[in-house]
Amino acid sequence: MAKKIIPKKTPMPEQPPGERVKNFNEVPYGYTAEQAMAEAQRCLQCAKPLCMTGCPVNVNITGFLKLVADGDFRGAINIVKETNSLPAITGRVCPQEQQCEIVCALAKRFEPVAIGRLERFVADWEAAQVDLPIPQLRTLTGKKVAVVGSGPAGLTVAADLAKMGHHVTVFEALHEAGGVLVYGIPEFRLPKAIVRREVEYVCSLEVKLVKDFVVGRSATVDELLEEYDAVFLGSGAGLPWFLKIPGENLSGVYSANEYLTRSNLMKAYRFPEYDTPIARGRRVITIGGGNVAIDASRTALRLGAEESIIVYRRSRDEMPARAEEIHHAEEEGVQLMLLTTPVAIHGNENGHVKELECIKNELGEPDASGRRRPVPIKGSNFRIPADIVVIAIGQSPSPLIPKTTADLKTGEDGVVTTDNETGKASKKGVFAGGDVATGGATVILAMGQGKKAAKAIDEYLKTGQW
Ligand code: FAD
Repeated sequence: MAKKIIPKKTPMPEQPPGERVKNFNEVPYGYTAEQAMAEAQRCLQCAKPLCMTGCPVNVNITGFLKLVADGDFRGAINIVKETNSLPAITGRVCPQEQQCEIVCALAKRFEPVAIGRLERFVADWEAAQVDLPIPQLRTLTGKKVAVVGSGPAGLTVAADLAKMGHHVTVFEALHEAGGVLVYGIPEFRLPKAIVRREVEYVCSLEVKLVKDFVVGRSATVDELLEEYDAVFLGSGAGLPWFLKIPGENLSGVYSANEYLTRSNLMKAYRFPEYDTPIARGRRVITIGGGNVAIDASRTALRLGAEESIIVYRRSRDEMPARAEEIHHAEEEGVQLMLLTTPVAIHGNENGHVKELECIKNELGEPDASGRRRPVPIKGSNFRIPADIVVIAIGQSPSPLIPKTTADLKTGEDGVVTTDNETGKASKKGVFAGGDVATGGATVILAMGQGKKAAKAIDEYLKTGQW
């Protein structure tokens, strides 16, 4: 008998918008076991599943969904963890709608299976168990690898290399591990306790974590190479871009990086209990259209802004942020001011931001990114009052490591030049992956690159061939 198709995803319970804008708690609550099984039973178990081809870390999606459908959650999480060491994170922040879910066979006519929500479910289910299995480690090879940065790229490469039996040490500049997962993505989207839990899992594979260690200052890559057989650079893209318009140095103007780091990592939203303050404004304007802009605009509401407005130069269709996050932001009251480009920031007599001057755009021909180019409409300038302006238009890698490492080549916007398949950099023994090699991208792409690099590093350590 043909399987009965349930056209819509099982809804995931979440905090109501009016309530959640007053707190930093996670918005969705996650599935119950019954909801997860019902959702997994929607999977058609295709003979040639396309969902797996859409996953940069090759999770055996139909395999784990089958076990969730049968109620075998232990079996399901074991399958996921074969290739993904950070499932509670990817289940929450991956752009599934553009990857595994977009190619789900159901998606042609109905809603795809909620793969991300189910990945999150099995990871959270495992964390709630008292007896966690102790990972089986391989025989040690005696080879040593230094990983720079503890974001998703660094953690993935570290976990995979440790499972292969190599000694791995992760050097992290900050006092907390996780990269953007702890300093960028807010608590209400990715609770820090979950990041800590997944970092602990990676450390349980006997990965050594050294915090407060800035490679390029505390030791250079060349110095690390004297002690380690290979170095992986997973140092991300933490250098914010600015608009290069008048008024960017006024007080009340933040890069999203600073705004979110103050709030997330330094817990400024709990000032004075924590000692880092953050400016709070009645009207906060965030410039940009990606996940970073959405996170900043939603954070502003939680910090007490009466109005939080996103100014974006193209139309809604071109916004790079995850669809679910734009939806959540709008539900919470974030306003989108589209087809608008800032041209100047004006201040008051005290040097504090007072207004943002913008120009309206229309859409022209597609540019190199394939998205339609914003074309300014002459004479359409107008001003919007603002107490805080947050700039979230992109970021590049910091120049510190390339500047302090001999023979390390970089390309456009300072990204470290690598071989796409192996992550090999221009210098022998050095590999790189994640945002440092691509510019700002996604968690799962960073992890995918970490996996490829781990394989290539293992090969290099075994053969010595570059
Ligand atoms: P990072 O996560 O940036 O980690 C790099 C680490 O290296 C950091 O911990 C840094 O402190 C450390 N480091 C840097 N320099 C040094 C040094 N010299 N020595 C030692 N350590 C160093 N992606 C998604 O898929 N979904 C989302 O919803 C999403 N939302 C986002 C929201 C925000 C606010 C931001 C900023 C990004 C978001 N992204 C999202 C993008 C995603 O987080 C990144 O693509 C991903 O984190 C890149 O991983 P990475 O490991 O390459 O670098």
